[in-house]
Amino acid sequence: MTGRSDPSLEESVLACKGVGEKRAQALNQKGIKSIRDLLFYFPRQYLDRTHISKIGDSQTGKGTFHVKVFSLQEIRLRSRGSMLKVILTDGSGYLVANFFNNLQIRYFSRILVIGTVLYISGTLRFQERYGELQITNFEIELADSDDSEDDLIHTKRIVPVYSETELLSTRYLRTLIWRELNRLHGKIEEFMPQSVLRRMNMPTYAESLREMHFPSSPEQADRARRRLAFDRLLFMEIYMLHKGREARLIREQVRYVSMELHDRLLSCLPYSLTAAQKRVLEEIKGDLQSSNLMNRLLQGDVGSGKTIVALLTMLIVVGNGYQVALLAPTEILVSQHQRTMDAILSNLGMKVDILVGGMPKKDREDVLDRLEKGEISILLGTHALLQPEIRFKSLGLVIIDEQHKFGVEQRKQLVSKGLAGRADLLVMTATPIPRTLSLTLYGDLQISVIDELPPGRRPIVTRWFTEKQVEKLYGFIREKIEEGEKAYFIYPLVSESDKVDLKDAITMFEHFSGKVFKGIGVGLIHGQMSQEEKEKSMVAFREGHIRILVSTTVVEVGMDIPDASIIVIEHADRFGLAQLHQLRGRTGRGTRQSFCILVTPAGISTEAKQRMAIMRKSIDGFHLAEEDLRMRGPGEFLGTKQSGLPDLAPADLVKDFALLAESRKLAEELLDKKIDMTEKERYSLYEAYKQEIQSKYAYIHSG
Ligand code: ADP
Ligand code: MG
Repeated sequence: MTGRSDPSLEESVLACKGVGEKRAQALNQKGIKSIRDLLFYFPRQYLDRTHISKIGDSQTGKGTFHVKVFSLQEIRLRSRGSMLKVILTDGSGYLVANFFNNLQIRYFSRILVIGTVLYISGTLRFQERYGELQITNFEIELADSDDSEDDLIHTKRIVPVYSETELLSTRYLRTLIWRELNRLHGKIEEFMPQSVLRRMNMPTYAESLREMHFPSSPEQADRARRRLAFDRLLFMEIYMLHKGREARLIREQVRYVSMELHDRLLSCLPYSLTAAQKRVLEEIKGDLQSSNLMNRLLQGDVGSGKTIVALLTMLIVVGNGYQVALLAPTEILVSQHQRTMDAILSNLGMKVDILVGGMPKKDREDVLDRLEKGEISILLGTHALLQPEIRFKSLGLVIIDEQHKFGVEQRKQLVSKGLAGRADLLVMTATPIPRTLSLTLYGDLQISVIDELPPGRRPIVTRWFTEKQVEKLYGFIREKIEEGEKAYFIYPLVSESDKVDLKDAITMFEHFSGKVFKGIGVGLIHGQMSQEEKEKSMVAFREGHIRILVSTTVVEVGMDIPDASIIVIEHADRFGLAQLHQLRGRTGRGTRQSFCILVTPAGISTEAKQRMAIMRKSIDGFHLAEEDLRMRGPGEFLGTKQSGLPDLAPADLVKDFALLAESRKLAEELLDKKIDMTEKERYSLYEAYKQEIQSKYAYIHSG
């Protein structure tokens, strides 16, 4: 049986033979409390000791031999202690095994006598000096009667190797797990419906646990791992889907009937929407007119034009008399959105309002007041929007820009300010997450993708320079500036640090404005400047009084200055692929040829070189994300904390992508009751699911 109804799997490891207080503590430290935990402590590798070799045919290398003890001799060593020399034979030759460890000597001189039959696996080495064939790093297993053959666990089979600690050797763990598997034999019941196992062509639960530790062949080990991985993934998908369905709230009071304002804006845009933008807008309209509230993630590569989609969405809501809030991660981005939106909205005689941290008290109070009276239709802001004293009269829609910069909690906080504590929700991100993964991570969101850039864009050319070539680079930049271009220079630090030897924005700004680019307008922007100073730099750069903007990664998200066509990223090896791609996306927004120039020291790691090469090869965010995922693994790629994913071992989101997709499909069918199963099967599956959710997902906030 599974889940709580099964006493044996839930039993504490203290119930196992060979586990006392000390060992139990050591096991606990590895997160192993129950026997279930123990069986889920998987081998880190396997050794294939299936084949039995003849000593006479072997000279070097690894091997397993079926031998008898020919002689035993304890020899006093001149330096310290003694050694036990055991000569073994299989009739075809002789092997020498030496024991040096006192404990081992005492143990083996007691259990080995002349004629003892055993298996030994190890590495052979011919010792010229003594003229003998020695075996080192060996492992011995007694096999003196025929019926013990079936019980061999350290030799003559594929044997598991576990990650060890002092008290928990591989040999100890192997014995322990073997014993428990035998004790539970016939007691580990299946919880997956037969029809599912057949369809997936998978072994039973009990068989998989056994084969995972003591595989009868490499193929069986693979099948076992796949089955156990499937369990993890399927339960995760059921959980996510279930959460998503729960999150689909019924639209109550709020109704959007009129499209008039929206249509008016559409007709006065300076460009026509791309096909992808149109498609996404249709999806959004569908949500807004359905009987459930919208819960949608909009993915689109940098520069794909998400802002205008957001604005058009806002006008549907505003046009029906409700308010809209847009949350963005930085003040720079908020004021940029204000500028862009006001410019477009001026055609309709409308304006947006903003709320940010550093606002004068009077302005802030004025905003709060008008907001409560319903005189503000569109409010843009940073985290400041989340404060409890911010109250809307009739908030209908929440939009989150660059949502990967925010947490689920913040999303929920803003939504709770909506009418009756709920609102339509649109979250936007340029962090392209491979689709399979985003389905999983955002199980509670519908997903739209803008997979097309506005027309006329030329692919950004990416080049890689080493620091030695900067003079040449500066020459190139000067030429381009003289031709009328603008450039960003990005540095990893704001100011000089005595801890790391990296260039910083302030020093480089002085160096450029005083020397290298003297006579050309050079500006500075970084996170430690006041809002006003930042704003001043941005305006000067936008309007062209500044032609070179020296910056930290504050410009990473969202900045949209279409005629800035060059970005130089120094110490590019310090940044991950996703961040480099975001930074590069500051250019390539106009119709000019854009350049992204990566500068690194000459001797960077192979991994960093790989990243530079990928950046040069691809400008497709989704492709880069997949490469990133492959290089760093899902944990780091997503930030384990941010992703909210539990430990999924033995599943691996990269390796098991196909399995993940299949699990998703099955999870849907299960929730829709489309899978054939008996009542008993349904019950077992539900119990196992509950057990998994309680043990792995309890810490994840729901919703
Ligand atoms: P992101 O998706 O990165 O937020 P933005 O919304 O900032 O991208 O848009 C990038 C640039 O593309 C802006 O300058 C915007 O005016 C322009 N743009 C958006 N949609 C179109 C379109 N359909 N045709 C031409 N230009 C567009
Ligand atoms: Mg944007």
